[in-house]
Formats: sequence, structure tokens, C-alpha cells
Amino acid sequence: MNPPGELILVLDAGTTSTRAMLFDRSGGLRATAQQALAQHYPQPGWVEHDAGEIWQRTLAVARQVVTEAGGADRIACIGITNQRETVVAWDRQSGEPLHRALVWQDRRTADACAALRAAGHEPMVQEATGLLLDPYFSATKLRWLIDREPAVRAASLTGRLALGTVESWLTFKLTGGAHITDASNASRTSLLALSGADWDAGLCDLFGVPRGALGEVTDNAGALGTCLAEHFGAAIPITGLAGDQQSATIGQGCLSPGETKATYGTGAFVLANMGSVIPRSHNRLLGTVLVQLGGQRSYALEGSVFIAGSLIQWLRDSLGLIVSAAESETLARSVPDSGGVVVVPALSGLGAPHWRPEARASITGLSFATTRAHLVRAALEAMAAQTLDLAEAFARDGARWTSLRIDGGMSANDWIAQDLADMLDLPVERPHFVETTALGAAMLAGLGSGLFASLEEAAGAMRGDVSGFSPKLSDEKRNARIVAWRKALEGA
Ligand code: ADP
Repeated sequence: MNPPGELILVLDAGTTSTRAMLFDRSGGLRATAQQALAQHYPQPGWVEHDAGEIWQRTLAVARQVVTEAGGADRIACIGITNQRETVVAWDRQSGEPLHRALVWQDRRTADACAALRAAGHEPMVQEATGLLLDPYFSATKLRWLIDREPAVRAASLTGRLALGTVESWLTFKLTGGAHITDASNASRTSLLALSGADWDAGLCDLFGVPRGALGEVTDNAGALGTCLAEHFGAAIPITGLAGDQQSATIGQGCLSPGETKATYGTGAFVLANMGSVIPRSHNRLLGTVLVQLGGQRSYALEGSVFIAGSLIQWLRDSLGLIVSAAESETLARSVPDSGGVVVVPALSGLGAPHWRPEARASITGLSFATTRAHLVRAALEAMAAQTLDLAEAFARDGARWTSLRIDGGMSANDWIAQDLADMLDLPVERPHFVETTALGAAMLAGLGSGLFASLEEAAGAMRGDVSGFSPKLSDEKRNARIVAWRKALEGA
């Protein structure tokens, strides 16, 4: 039993669902509740969430686990982690959303980004923010709302407009009006310079986002706000905030420069801790704030590939080659190699480090000897091949990996974990507790509430055991696979 008031409540506001999880200070998961979130696709390329629904569902799951905990008095603090880049516009007086949230996947501002690129702004934006000009990031979405939504524009003219990412919206609602955003989330908007403590006036002008509508940029841990007592029965402090990928990096204990994690979910996200040095990528990787504590920042270099677990879903749902994701592991093990088959999973173009949106997927090397098992094995082999391309780009940017910590739904596949170790020629580690995103938010909240003196102490207390995978493949076999992959990639 924990003494009263030592549990940490994490709110994980994800893209497809929102969850509440309750941790004790040794990292034990005491309770969890989850609700799915409606996805709205009003036009091709547009993706929206109802911000009111995000709030209501988050409040509902939080109340559920607070009740399971035995009441708010048992809870020391709250940590929030969230889908990044997604934007909400709300009325700061009424506290009501003015439009549906524009989700990170939404591509409606592609033309606005192209226009800014054509006008020559990308080098400056990349230098200042670490980001590229892409609809993925928040700034052009915020401008779109002001330009195209009369209610948002009207609120802007009367000084009632509040703009923010999802953690900012939830914090506003939980506290009854505090308007803040943490530095990791702020660094995904294109409005924060990596070297600047606050919003950048020049970037706000360039993107046409009124600085006064944005919240105050804060640390990732500390006394950030206090929930209204009406929500949970007592005023619980909010002491940790972080974007989901930064939170997972912390949850994986990547607290020192060079330590790197890869999350294999629908897509794959790789972040390397770069310490206090602002990352400057020459390989179209992203520079981002990893964590800000006491005003001091650590940065990360980030690269993502679009297709990871979604390739396995495609094999199952569109091709019918497997009945479950787990079957892919059995099939891959049933053959000694892919029989010369190479899958380049560019089903929606190629992400980092290639950035070729026009690239299309391919399956090459087929013969009459090819079986379902060869195809599935080749699909799984593509995960390590894509990761190796990222590893090389990170190395060219001065962030050579010495090991890789993996998580996400796909990392449950032991064959993939071993293949990553083999192809990267590096030790690969997978924690037994794979909910690293929530764990990172719990560590930050624990630090911010004084349960821990440092993130290192939080990691020591809360991170559990890991499984290790060591490279075993011969250089000859590895090199042959790399050559085959590169050849197939050229044709994509
Ligand atoms: P997200 O957070 O992006 O929704 P998850 O981390 O839950 O994704 O991971 C789910 C993905 O992992 C799915 O795309 C699924 O195909 C894949 N996946 C799950 N289990 C396995 C497995 N054993 N082998 C390969 N892929 C898997």
C-alpha cells in the first residue's frame, strides 16, 4: 500500500483514444480507463476532432480512475501527455471551443506551406524552429482557423481568442482558465525558436498567428497549475506536461545525450537525446525540445517513418495474407530468409530521411518459389531497413546511436526486435512495461510534485526490467540485405 497522496494520475490524450492511468511511485500501474475518440474526415485530407469531446472523455476516464484510487486525496499530482501539433481554438471567456480541433494528420494547409516555401522561408524556419514547412506542424493550421472560421476570427478581434495544442486546452479546462503550454509541445508549432524562451515575434508574424492568443510557455515539470476541486473532489496539482514522443523518450530513460528510442506503432518515431546542444539537421531530420526543467532545455533529434504497424494491418486487412499481427512473427520464423523478396513500404510516400511524398510501395524479387511466408518476412524486414536509413541520417547529423530502446505495439514482435539488433548491429532493449509515453508523463509529474529530486531518480524508481537483443547476423548477410534494400528503394 502507498501512503495517501502518493499516486500519480496520467492523462494520455492520444489521437484515437484518451486514457487515464494511475501509477504508484515505483512505476506500478494501479488503474487504467480508456475511451475512443471520434475521428471526423469532412473532406479528403482533412482530419478533425471535437475538442469538447476530448475534454469530456478525458474528464470521464480521469474521474473513473480517481474513484478506483479511493478519491482525490490519494493522488499527489497529475501529468498530461498528448497527441502533438493538433490545434484547438477556444473562447477564453466561455471556455468553449470555437471550431473542431485540426489534427496533426490534417493536410489542408499544404498549399499555404508550399507558398511559404516558394517565397524562400524554409531555411529560416528550419534554422529557428528545427522543423520543416509542412502542414503537420501547428502554425499554418492556427492561421487557417483564423482566416476561414468566422467565430475564430470574431474572437480574435475581441481579444477572446485562445489558441493551443491539446495539453494547453486540457489544462485550461482542468484549472478553470490557466492558459499555458509546455516547451516540448510549443516546439512543434513552428512559433517557438529552439533558442528562445518564449514565442518568437517574427515567426508569429510570418505565419499570421496573434501572439496574445497563445498560452505562456512553461517547463515540463513543476507547479504548472491546479485542477478545480469540482472536477475530482479535491484540488490536485498539475505538475507534468509533455508531447507524447518526448514523454516516451523520457519514459524510456533516454536522459543522457546519445540515448535513443524508437516507437513502432502505426508509424515509427525515433528520438535521440542531444543534450543542451540545439540540433541542426542537414538530413531533413527535425530538431525539437525534449524537455525543459528550471528554464534549461534538452533537445532531441527526431525522425519518423510513416509506415510501420500499418504495413502489418495492410497485409492482414487488404491482402488477407495473415489473420493476426502476431501471426507475422510465426510466418517470418518459418523460412530462413525472404527468398530474395524486398518490400519497400512507401504506401503513402517515404518519410525521413528520404522525404519523397511521390514514392510508391513495391514488392520485388518474386519468383514461383515465393510463398506467403517470404512476403510476410520481407514486410517485417522492411522495419529494420527503414530504421537503418534513419540511423545513418542521425549519424550524419552527429547523433550516432550506441543502442536502441524500442516500444510501441509492434515491438511486442520478438523477431522484429532481434532483426533490428542484427541490421543495426547494435544492442536493442525493450522494457517489460511498454507504456512508456504514460510512464514519461508520470516521471515528469513525480518530479514536478517533489516525489523525486530528478528525472534520473524518477527513472531509477519507476522504470522496470528490460529484455535485451544482441546482434547475431554475419556481416555478409547484413550487407547483402542492405544492398538489396537500397536497390529496391531506388525503384520506389
Ligand atoms: P498506435 O499507438 O499508433 O495506435 P500501437 O503502438 O498500438 O499503435 O501499435 C499497433 C500496431 O502494431 C498495429 O499497426 C499492428 O499492426 C502492429 N502490431 C501489433 N502487434 C504486432 C506483432 N506481434 N507483430 C507485428 N506488428 C504488430
